[in-house]
Amino acid sequence: MPQQPDDGTVESPPRDRTIRRCLIAGNWKMNGLCAQSRSLAEALADGSEDLPPFIDLTICPPFTQIAAVGDILAGSRIRLGAQDCHVASAGAFTGDISAAMLADLNVRYVIVGHSERRLHHFETDELVNAKARAAIEADLTPIVCIGETSEERDAGIAHERLSAQIATSLPANFRGVVAYEPIWAIGTGRTASIQEIEETTAHIRAAVAAHLETDDKSVPILYGGSVTARDAASILSINSVGGVLVGGASLAADSFLGIALAAQEALS
Ligand code: PEP
Repeated sequence: MPQQPDDGTVESPPRDRTIRRCLIAGNWKMNGLCAQSRSLAEALADGSEDLPPFIDLTICPPFTQIAAVGDILAGSRIRLGAQDCHVASAGAFTGDISAAMLADLNVRYVIVGHSERRLHHFETDELVNAKARAAIEADLTPIVCIGETSEERDAGIAHERLSAQIATSLPANFRGVVAYEPIWAIGTGRTASIQEIEETTAHIRAAVAAHLETDDKSVPILYGGSVTARDAASILSINSVGGVLVGGASLAADSFLGIALAAQEALS
């Protein structure tokens, strides 16, 4: 019950001061020439200085910009990420980049199994699993993407589809992050509803916990799919959401930092 002080005002009940951490990850996809990448990284490094420590930030530029962006981010509170890695640490794999090569450039996170790679490069759950293991082996944090098509959602089999992806894409000793990205929401401007995100991330959390054979089953679950600064606060207020994976809105400093400010407002 609220306390009634002598002056007649009603004091609010004490707030739960436990603040959840959240990860805001920017996926630049195949965007960014040298000058543009440099100025975006500089603006992000400057603009993120005063954000609270419970907000973790990472940006994943294309491979060609990782070294230059890494130099700019050194000493900032934004960590370096990458968009993919190969399963092997080195060898005769023309055109590929290994997790060890990324770690050598101080990359901390690597996205694996993004739906665009599953679609355009025919990546299977088994391959994604091997990439996640390669990332962990190189001391990177894999961000494993899963998500259903609009046909699967309409047919009422989204949860079943996600459970199958979790069972095959995640190693049983997984240590990393899972990103729930409904395919129909990526790059379409159509964000999933709060109820859909809430129900689906709760399902994912339970399916991941049931699948893992580790003692620590606290895997952060990100939401991704047309996130902007406008809807970030309500998405991040959902208990089972541990952050967001951002595509389009990560390509401008204002919109990406706007999401971080919305996170600060939603979680503090
Ligand atoms: C993504 O590519 O992971 C993504 C979520 O893109 P967008 O934010 O543009 O939908």
